[in-house]
Order: sequence, then structure tokens, then C-alpha cells
Amino acid sequence: MKTEIPYDRFAHVPERIFGLVDLAYNLWWSWHSSATVLFKQLNRAEWKLSRHNPVRMLLETPPRFFERAANNPEYLRRYDIIMFRFRQYMEPTTSWFAQRYPGRVPLTIAYFSSEFGLHHSLPFYAGGLGILAGDHIKAAGDLGLPMVAVGFMYAEGYLHQHMEGNGWQKNVAEILDRDAAPVLRVTGDNGRQLVVQVPLIDPPIYVAVWKVQVGRVPLYLLDTHIDENLPENRSISHRLYLKELECRLRQELVLGIGGRKVLHTLGVDYSAMHLNEGHSAFALLERLRERLVAGMPPDEARERIRGTSVFTTHTPVPAAHDVFPEDLMAKYFRSYCPSLGLDWDEFMALGEDPHNPGASFNMTAFALRMSLFHNAVSQRHGEVTREMWQPLWPDLAVEDVPIDAITNGVHVPTWLNHRIETLLDRYMDPIYPNWREEYDNPIVWEVVDEIPDDELWGEHQWLKMKLFARLRERKRRKWAGHREEPANLAAEGLMLDTTALTIGFARRFAEYKRADLIFEDLDRLDRIVNNRWRPVQFIFAGKAHPADEKGKRILQKIYQYSQDPRFGGRISFIEDYDEQLARYMVHGVDVWMNTPVPLMEASGTSGMKAGMNGVLNLSVLDGWWVEGYNGRNGWAFEGHAPYGGNNRADANTLYDLIENEIAPLYYSRTIDNVPHKWARMMKESIKSIAPQYCSLRMLKQYITNYYPSVCMYAAEPGKPMAGIQEVCPTEPGSGGFTEK
Ligand SMILES: *Cc1c(COP(=O)(O)O)cnc(C)c1O
Repeated sequence: MKTEIPYDRFAHVPERIFGLVDLAYNLWWSWHSSATVLFKQLNRAEWKLSRHNPVRMLLETPPRFFERAANNPEYLRRYDIIMFRFRQYMEPTTSWFAQRYPGRVPLTIAYFSSEFGLHHSLPFYAGGLGILAGDHIKAAGDLGLPMVAVGFMYAEGYLHQHMEGNGWQKNVAEILDRDAAPVLRVTGDNGRQLVVQVPLIDPPIYVAVWKVQVGRVPLYLLDTHIDENLPENRSISHRLYLKELECRLRQELVLGIGGRKVLHTLGVDYSAMHLNEGHSAFALLERLRERLVAGMPPDEARERIRGTSVFTTHTPVPAAHDVFPEDLMAKYFRSYCPSLGLDWDEFMALGEDPHNPGASFNMTAFALRMSLFHNAVSQRHGEVTREMWQPLWPDLAVEDVPIDAITNGVHVPTWLNHRIETLLDRYMDPIYPNWREEYDNPIVWEVVDEIPDDELWGEHQWLKMKLFARLRERKRRKWAGHREEPANLAAEGLMLDTTALTIGFARRFAEYKRADLIFEDLDRLDRIVNNRWRPVQFIFAGKAHPADEKGKRILQKIYQYSQDPRFGGRISFIEDYDEQLARYMVHGVDVWMNTPVPLMEASGTSGMKAGMNGVLNLSVLDGWWVEGYNGRNGWAFEGHAPYGGNNRADANTLYDLIENEIAPLYYSRTIDNVPHKWARMMKESIKSIAPQYCSLRMLKQYITNYYPSVCMYAAEPGKPMAGIQEVCPTEPGSGGFTEK
């Protein structure tokens, strides 16, 4: 099995800077701004046109651009340094992991997720779950943890959102050009792309295998769009989260069983497994089957699979858990089930939902039963989840239900703006030069207090202007393309005022997120936004799921308000929210607002991205903010409205906060025009949020709490390590798993 970069297509790149090709095929460049600059300097126009896709840019750039760079001493100097750092990263003499666990060669962790948000040039995500998965594997690689990831090649993953004049969302699919993206074909011994059959499914389904290199972690992507498949099976991997239940089951079957089979074929055999949400849980069945085929007694096989499996659940919304009816399960699993040594009823019992016993298979219940280590994604979500799934452990009190919580975190090198990073570096580097590798250490962030208010404020102003400039440029291009009505220009941010307090709200338009909360009392809102001395403006963005009519109606309502002259252009909706727009927004607004129905937000991560850049959170106390809020780093309020209930009281609390606290603080300026108290809160936000809500902290918790392979294996595979308990306390009775 091989994955080779098609070097022959880059014959026009001079030898001296040919390393750019290697760099382009590893997303490492995307979280190192100095590497990004190498591509940008080479051919600025094409860099933009390619939407920051270096593979496309290198392919499309004429030779004279390369010649110019290869003869520019300054460019070459930077090139040499960055290539050195890149190669050093890829072949480390040491890593956090190796230092922490010397002499241990752990098993590889196989991380399964139905989406991966890595960079805007790769359409493999829909929202927060995917971005979290992307950040997880980036950080795992940074720490030197052996990991492979498995996901889908969604060729039509990008559904661009085009807003019609009446505010209705239109979805426009863009097909990924795989030959001009940083994805590589995995080829088999015959030199052709590797194709693997999903075991025991009739009629057969085949997947072709692709690879994206994400720093040190390879991400394998499954693709059903191949000739070997029946036409109806080719579309399985086209798009994320197909609505129709049978399509969805087939998708999860391919991801779980097919994904596990692919790893087996690639020789990644004795791995531990981390399931990011229940979509890929069928992988547990395939692992079980592998053990049984190898001759392991069924009880032992099951215990070993459990002991080496981690499952993370991500939502308290019941409707978001996949449940498949028995007849559908029978259609696909009748032939598979006997190979597990189970009769049909035993098989179905694995996925029985204790709230709703009977004829269906619940993926979350199944994953909880089949894994020993399971967690929710914030402390509050842990409480909600233990209560939700207590019936699975009828003998235990709710607080003893074995579902822990590891609060999510975001990949700081990806989400910290490089101007803020440069500013921080001026103050951190002299006393803690390694801060970029050890940014989960809260002590270094104390230095943030030394940054003068006006420097931090100045950078923030720059980022705000950059955001507004980007938004206007998007509009300008649309206008120039005759694709825009004048009313939409006003709605989509043309009148944004760089001096006004700016509140951002961007997320999926699911009902529980209550994007429309501030529209409860239009007269009050009118007074707030049109306050002559302290104007407030709102920027909204986000997509509704194509099948979510309610979400689309909420979006339409907001879009129509943003067209309404009553609000003076101070309410805007920016179309086509994605990772790139998210970056501009979490760096450039003043306040990041979050107003979910309490207990419905599992964690939320966009507020973490904002907070570490000095953008202050204003949020319902739910998800991560219950832990993150410290009274000095933003604003919080208890939400009271139950799901579907009356939102007026929550809206009033929100108006009061904005009117009486946030706006006065923002507009209180001294002679230097800097809001010093605000700047102090920004610093508090950065230093309290960055070290705590980063993916390094999160990964280290997964490693010490769970990744059993880390704890259980010595340098020689299969031999338990002495003294293991010191490093990794596990539940009594769970120790000593060896997978062989
Ligand atoms: C961070 C991020 C999300 C997740 O945001 P939440 O706060 O969890 O709603 C969704 N989409 C994009 C593009 C993101 O960058």
C-alpha cells in the first residue's frame, strides 16, 4: 500500500524550492502562518483564486513565478527555515508523548468521525463536530501521539448557502476537484487505487481510499463513488448526513465497518479506537468480528474491544441520536450477525434504547454498551448525559453512571489570529520561549497582563476593520456579478460601522440555538441598535440543515429584519458561513453571543475561539461557558425558558446586559480613545480561556484518562507495563487489556 504525491505533475517547480510540493500536501502549513506566507508570496492572485488551496495554486502557477521566487534570496531564506521546521516536525527526535511515556510504544489510536473540519479548501465537515475532530487530530499529532483518522470523502460536501431576496436559503453544491486538492490516492500493490469491500454486506459495497496528511496524522477517507459499486451505492459518500433513514444507515455502515476494514487492510491492526459521536459505532462490530475470526472466545473478544474503545457523545438533543428500525437493520445485518456469534435478538439487544425498548437500534446506546470509556464534552453536559443514560445502568445512582466529561478545546495554532499571536510573542518569548508548544500552561498566559491596553486594542481594531473589509469585498463581487438586489446589500453588511459595538452570532441555525432571541421585543431592539451615542450592531451568519424547515424559517426571519430600514443597516446577515468566515468573525467582532435553550448546548466551541482572541463572550450559562465564565472575562446569564417555551424573560435579561453593562463599558473612553476597562476584560478573556479551552489540554485528558493503549502497552506489544497505575488510573477491573 502506498500513497505517493504525483510529483510528475509539478515538473514546472524548480528543484531549489521543490519542497513546496511536499508542504502543499500536508495541512501542517495551514496552522503555521509563516508557511502560509510562502504560498501567498509565490503568487498572490492565484492564492486567492484557489481559496487558499496550495495544490491548485502550484498547479496553476506559471513557471516564471517560480523562477522569480527561486532567485529571491529573501524568499529562499524563509523557505529554508520553514522547510527545516516542517521536516523537524515530521521527524521529531522527541515529542511530548515520548518524553512523558519514555520507552513505550503505544498502539495507534484509530479516531473515527463522520466529519473533519480541517481547512476551507476541504469540504469534509458541516459544523462544530467536524471542526472539533479536525482540531483533535491536529493536536494529537502535535503531541506525538500515534493516531490514524478515518472519515468520508464527501465530494459534494460543500453546500454553499445563497440567500434569495426573500431570505430563503438556497443550497448550491460545489464538487470537489480531487486532483487539485491536498488529497492523495492510496494505491494497492497493482498500482491502482485501493478498493476495499465492506464485509458481509449484500449486495456488496466497495470503498476507494484516499488520504489527507494532517501534520503527523494520516486521515483516510472513504469514497463510494466508483465503478465497482451499483449506481445506487455510489452516492453513499456524496454528502454529509443524508436525511433518508436507509441512506443514513448505509452511510454509517460504510464508515464503521468499511472504515475498520480499510484499517485492517492497511495493516493498522491492533489499534485502540476512539469514536467521535455514534455515527461510526458499527466499527465496534467489525473489530469484534476480526477477533472472532482470529479464534478468540466471544466473551473475551467483547471485553477486549470494550476495554480499548473510547466513545464521545456530543449532543443532549434526543432527536440527534441515530435510531434505526428493526426491519431496516435486518435488511443489512441478517447476514452479518451470525459472524458475531450472536442470534438476532442478542444482536438487536446491543442497540436497545432503555427509554424506548422494542424494535429499534440506537447507535448511542450501542456505543455506550460496547465501549468501556465514554465521555460527554463539558461538565454540564456530563450531568445531563448521565441522567439521560442512567437507565442503561439501572443499579447505579445518576451521579455514579460511568460517563465522564472532558470539556472540548480548540487548536490554538489554528484559531489564534497571527497578529494577536505576534503581539503575545513579544511578551511571552523573553520569559517562556516554548509557549507555542506548551500553551496549555496557564502560568505563561499571566504575561498577557503586561501588554499595554492600547497595543491590544489597536490589534483588535485592525482585525475588526479587516473583517468589515472582507464582508464588503464579498458584497462588491456579488454586486459586480449582477447577482444582488440593493436591499440585500444593506442586509449583508454594507453599512457596518467600524466604530460601533459589534456583536457576532454565527452557528448552525438549529432551533435550540435561538438565533432569533434578540428579536423578541422589536421596540427594545430598535432602541438598542439605534442609540445615537452608543449604537450596537449585530452580525449573523450560519446555515440551516437543508432538511430543517424550522431552521430555515428562523434564518429567513432574521434575514428579513436585516433588510428592514427600521434597524438602520445595523443588523446584518452574512451568507455562506464556513471555516474561513468563522475565522474572520471570531477575530474581528467585539462580542460573541450565544443564546441556546439551557441544557441543550453540549459544549460549543466558537466562543472559545473568540475568547482566546480577546473577543468577549456574552452567553447563556450552558455548555462550556458554565466552566469558562469567571465573572471577569465576559458576561453570562441563566437562561430560564424551557425548550419551546416563552423566551421573553431570557430576551429581557439579554437586552438589560447589552444596554446597561456592555454598551456603557465599550463606549467609556479616555482621552486616548481606548476603553481601558474593556481592554482589561479582553486580557482576562485571553488568559483564562486560551490555556484551558485548547485542544492540548483536551488531548492530554484523553490520554491520561482513557487512551488505554497508552497505559497498557510496553515497548513490546502485548506485554503489560509494570507500574502502570501510577500513570493512568483506570477503573478496577478494566486493566490489562491486550488486544492480541
Ligand atoms: C467552531 C465552528 C463551529 C462550532 O461552533 P459552536 O459554537 O459549537 O456552535 C461551527 N462551524 C464552524 C465553521 C466553526 O468554525
